[in-house]
Amino acid sequence: MDGTRFDAAVIGGGLLGTATAYHLVSAGARTLLVDRGDAGRATDAGAGILSPETNSRDSDAWFDFAAEAADYYPTLIERLRDEQAGDTGFARCGKLVVAVSDDEVEPFGRARRIIFERRQRRGRPKPDDLHEISPEDARELFPPLARVQGAIYSRTAARVDGRLLNAAILAAAEARGLVIRTGSVERLLREGDAVTGLVVDGERIHAGAVAIAGGAWSEAFGKQLGVSIPVAPQRGQIIHLGLRRTDTSRWPMVSAFHEQYMVPWPDSRVVAGATRETGSGFAPHTTTAGVRVLLEEALRVAPGLADAEIREIRVGLRPLSADGLPVLGGVSGVAGVFLATGHGPSGLTLGLYSAKLVAEQMLGLAPATDLTPFSLARFTRRTT
Ligand SMILES: Cc1cc2nc3c(=O)[nH]c(=O)nc-3n(C[C@H](O)[C@H](O)[C@H](O)COP(=O)(O)OP(=O)(O)OC[C@H]3O[C@@H](n4cnc5c(N)ncnc54)[C@H](O)[C@@H]3O)c2cc1C
Repeated sequence: MDGTRFDAAVIGGGLLGTATAYHLVSAGARTLLVDRGDAGRATDAGAGILSPETNSRDSDAWFDFAAEAADYYPTLIERLRDEQAGDTGFARCGKLVVAVSDDEVEPFGRARRIIFERRQRRGRPKPDDLHEISPEDARELFPPLARVQGAIYSRTAARVDGRLLNAAILAAAEARGLVIRTGSVERLLREGDAVTGLVVDGERIHAGAVAIAGGAWSEAFGKQLGVSIPVAPQRGQIIHLGLRRTDTSRWPMVSAFHEQYMVPWPDSRVVAGATRETGSGFAPHTTTAGVRVLLEEALRVAPGLADAEIREIRVGLRPLSADGLPVLGGVSGVAGVFLATGHGPSGLTLGLYSAKLVAEQMLGLAPATDLTPFSLARFTRRTT
């Protein structure tokens, strides 16, 4: 491959890298994707909740972008279906937001105000699709649930399986000519103020444009670019519970207000997550404290899960940016390099749309959504 020239190269084979590469090859660009397959790849651990309409924690900037990203999801899922890329686990399973204990009543009230104000502002979802329901109706939808003090139900909230989605996009991209390489990008090739390719395990590969979608590991390229990329690993532990002989296929997702949630899957499985361990460093292992929090919280919200078996515990390192928003697009002062990282706890929600927009920039097109609020320039300081 030495001396080979591509129109574009993508560093990273998590959802951001894979989806960026897919959009590039779909537009006809001869593209290389390089992935090192680090333990702790966030995409492999993600819970897969796609439900900006029930989010009350993040800023309006996040919400507006997430709403656009959610609108884009079905389009891409349908394309992948047409391209017979394989199952993605995407389904509109619905979601409950509940207050269980007394200390959750006030945050529930605040969430209700934000959720319904945003619905009003956007004019969707329809009231039939996003409304309050009684504690009894909530329990009927999700039988293991505790007696709750309040519940909001989103009928159209969706989930996706990060591993399946990533594999499907990769398969579709490969069918369109993507060249995939397992390896580590050691550094970028630079000529003056432009990035002109990359070095993979000692080989120099030229590319017209390079995307850095290295998840929590993206920061490593900052030094060479003379900038700081403020993205760091935030460990997330998540537990997969099995409920023998129980049909979970119609259960909605559930979130409460101690930062945790549950995502049911059709194979008698409920996934309970996730810890948010800011400052964890690159340490993708389970911990006793983490697992305790997950189990305590799952049983607090859903005591009916007490008999569930523990099937698996996954750990991922979320690429968390300094302000919690994605880091997207070009690097000022350096041509030919683009960032697609920093999605933290919402990369499965935002990632497909972010990837589409970054690919558009790499192709010299104006992205469909202005990326300025997500540019590195919002916190860049020159380091060399
Ligand atoms: C427990 C957990 C639950 C989550 N739940 C949700 C959720 O419900 N909804 C939601 O929207 N999001 C969720 N997320 C967040 C989401 O999973 C992430 O934001 C997203 O997957 C990040 O994708 P990425 O491609 O940026 O990074 P990653 O998936 O981490 O991929 C980065 C890849 O880049 C590779 N790489 C790095 N450096 C190099 C290099 N130099 N050379 C070659 N390859 C390199 C790595 O090996 C890795 O494979 C969750 C995350 C976790 C951990």
